[in-house]
Amino acid sequence: HACKLATGNWKMNGLRADLDEARALAAGFPDAKCGILLCPPATLVCAMADALSGSAVMVGGQDCHAQTTGAHTGDISAQMLADAGARQVILGHSERRADHAETSAQVAAKAAAAHAAGLVAIICIGETESQRDAGQTLDVVLSQLAQSLPDEATSANTVIAYEPVWAIGTGRTPTLEQITEVHDALRANLPDQAISLLYGGSVKPGNAAEIFAIANVDGALVGGASLKAVDFGAIIAAL
Ligand code: 13P
Repeated sequence: HACKLATGNWKMNGLRADLDEARALAAGFPDAKCGILLCPPATLVCAMADALSGSAVMVGGQDCHAQTTGAHTGDISAQMLADAGARQVILGHSERRADHAETSAQVAAKAAAAHAAGLVAIICIGETESQRDAGQTLDVVLSQLAQSLPDEATSANTVIAYEPVWAIGTGRTPTLEQITEVHDALRANLPDQAISLLYGGSVKPGNAAEIFAIANVDGALVGGASLKAVDFGAIIAAL
């Protein structure tokens, strides 16, 4: 894992004026030694890809449909994301699983569609606080891992992001031992050992370096701290 990956998930945030943050980020990392990815809302994918063209910062989507085209009002396909300039797509984020009742089987179908469109699928898994309190963390994440990956998943087309639901947007992070325990278990159960494992959930400039120092952490999936180039830049600098 010579090349670590810093992925920013803008979630439902960002207007065209915020493309200035993406431009500022790209200006700060002209020769990135690691992978840098911003995933804006779908409305900005095209404009951000244009704004970042020729830079070291890649653009991704936050979700896609499992079908390529058809009568699915409000949805967008992986092929459309690729056509708009995306190279990756986040799939199965806990907010999608919770707000849209997405199952791991649906996530696997979306990942297969992403692969068919030439996109890297960033597949998210993670336990809720009550599942952790009940001692079910490893059972939950390993079962999500087994069910959310399509058969053809390899390190070339798939990244896994471990995001404990209780750490997202809360400012609370697991201990380094807890992250280590989950990432070690995930690594041992990957279909391809070279698949990158990102950690996500309240990653900030102040905790990024210690999280990236964990052996089986290959980068981060960052929400709130990816919205401003100064914060996300400080996280990338810690990679
Ligand atoms: P925060 O970094 O805001 O906690 O969000 C994490 C996340 O959900 C990224 O996908």
